Amino acid sequence: KKIGLHEIRQEFIDFFKDKGHLVIKSFPLIPKNDKSLLLINAGMAPLKPYFTGEKTPPSKRIVTCQKCIRTADIENVGKTDRHATFFEMLGNFSFGDYFKREAIEWAWEFLTERLEIPKEDLWVSIYKEDDEAFKIWNEVIGLEKEKIVPLGKEDNFWELEIGPCGPCSEIYIDRGKKYGCGKKDCKPGCDCERFIEIWNLVFTQYDKDKNGEYHPLEHPNIDTGMGLERITAIIEGARNIFEIEEIQHILKFVEKTSGKKYGIDPSVDTSIRVITDHSRAITFMVSDGILPSNEGRGYVLRRLIRRAARHGKLLGIEEPFLNKIVDVVISSWKVEYPELEEKKVQIKKVIQAEEEKFQETIHQGINILENYIEELISKGDKCLSGKNAFKLYDTYGFPLDLTREILEEKGLTVDEKGFNQQMEKQRNMARKARKSVVDSGWKNAQSTELFSDYDTQFVGYDILEIETKV
Ligand code: ATP
Ligand code: MG
Ligand code: MG
Ligand code: MG
Repeated sequence: KKIGLHEIRQEFIDFFKDKGHLVIKSFPLIPKNDKSLLLINAGMAPLKPYFTGEKTPPSKRIVTCQKCIRTADIENVGKTDRHATFFEMLGNFSFGDYFKREAIEWAWEFLTERLEIPKEDLWVSIYKEDDEAFKIWNEVIGLEKEKIVPLGKEDNFWELEIGPCGPCSEIYIDRGKKYGCGKKDCKPGCDCERFIEIWNLVFTQYDKDKNGEYHPLEHPNIDTGMGLERITAIIEGARNIFEIEEIQHILKFVEKTSGKKYGIDPSVDTSIRVITDHSRAITFMVSDGILPSNEGRGYVLRRLIRRAARHGKLLGIEEPFLNKIVDVVISSWKVEYPELEEKKVQIKKVIQAEEEKFQETIHQGINILENYIEELISKGDKCLSGKNAFKLYDTYGFPLDLTREILEEKGLTVDEKGFNQQMEKQRNMARKARKSVVDSGWKNAQSTELFSDYDTQFVGYDILEIETKV
């Protein structure tokens, strides 16, 4: 069947609509009333109050296609076939209505009958103590027991500190030996790219109390998530999510702008894929009202823009280009997200301003970092001091992970603890300075602006984000 990303999204929505699900549009990327999460990272995230029982859902069956950002995957982008920072997650949800059997049967029906994926290519993992799931896969669906891989709690049990939780079952596609590591026991869970996880079915059947005890829920829930780009890659036979047709428009634009060919030099390919991915992320983030800043979501955005700009430099692109790439992104996704077109002018302005700001200092910053690197190498050192890393951040606008990434390319590291200490020191100084300014009665707007960059709750973007499984 020749169908692309937009058609697969629609097939999924229609399939579950026919099964009595209420269709809800994607929620924005900024979580509402949820301090535990910086950015929406799964279809279930904005629906959490329905799972906890805090709110009554508009329907017991809901289907969505949710915009997601996972900064935790940033280091994987461009390196693995399957990780993006921005992606769309398809999901069907049951709030105390249908449970395990229907969730599994419908997932199987959708994949094998609607999308006509050969049954032989499908494998699953289950939580090792979930006999019920094993039985359904084995006896109801007829999947061979060798293709049902039991995994432990870290992989196949979904839970937060407290509240609804339960085992999950993940569906994988075997892409064949050519993607494999060649090991004899290669199967789902192996860290090579032969078996791609496409869909996670979570069976929230317990309520975890504050003592860590699990109580069976009277009305268990279903929460599923399937990566739209991943399933599209499978259907199109693309090698990775960046090479699916819809995303290739962006990839080709990067090729054209840089004059570099994709598919020859692996490091060039990584840069092209990073830019391709980040351009989608930044377009959607700005359209949802996020602005570049030095804290929280704004810092994630800043980091993505600067990282994309730096990979542009690696490809030899001299002029700011990210605001042009936004047009390509918008022309592909405005069908599903018309707000992109409406806010186009503003999105481009924000991204251009941030890229230009970075342009002003990137050359200087890179020169300085190269000097540091030479110095390290000549001394036989391996680790850049926190002080120097902080100087790059503070004076040249280099996010820490950019510095780390450049160092890693040379086999070096950075003292992150030292960096954070410098950050803390700077923040205390700013706080003190501000206080004395306020104490002395000098309270104009400029004085607060001067220090606002430092007086933030910066604790590192990664630990701000709690990874939820689906
Ligand atoms: P993986 O093990 O491959 O990192 P995951 O177990 O972290 O995936 P889940 O949290 O179970 O993923 O999310 C549900 C689905 O969302 C996955 O099965 C996958 O199809 C998709 N997905 C997850 N992370 C990404 C990503 N970074 N980019 C694209 N799709 C993703
Ligand atoms: Mg993951
Ligand atoms: Mg997984
Ligand atoms: Mg998973």
